[in-house]
Amino acid sequence: MSKKASTPKKEETTTEETKTEAKPQKTEKPKKEKSKRQEKGVHALYKVEGETVSRLRPTCERCGPGYFMGDHKNRYTCGHCGFTRYKTH
Ligand SMILES: [Zn+2]
Repeated sequence: MSKKASTPKKEETTTEETKTEAKPQKTEKPKKEKSKRQEKGVHALYKVEGETVSRLRPTCERCGPGYFMGDHKNRYTCGHCGFTRYKTH
């Protein structure tokens, strides 16, 4: 028995041109952010005129100055203690 010289076999390179993408393309929508309450920030509470600063919101009389009250249609409310003051016109 004669040993066959190891001849390098030509390996057929299988050229698969058809690349099948197994992943089904999902069109993921970016999460819609719920419309946040527009935070106006502190600067919305003050009105600067020249050198004088006037507060646009009433302050809570329970919590004292520094606690602004939320401006509502017919009332002001304090977010700190829940104090509600109705607007009087
Ligand atoms: Zn308060």
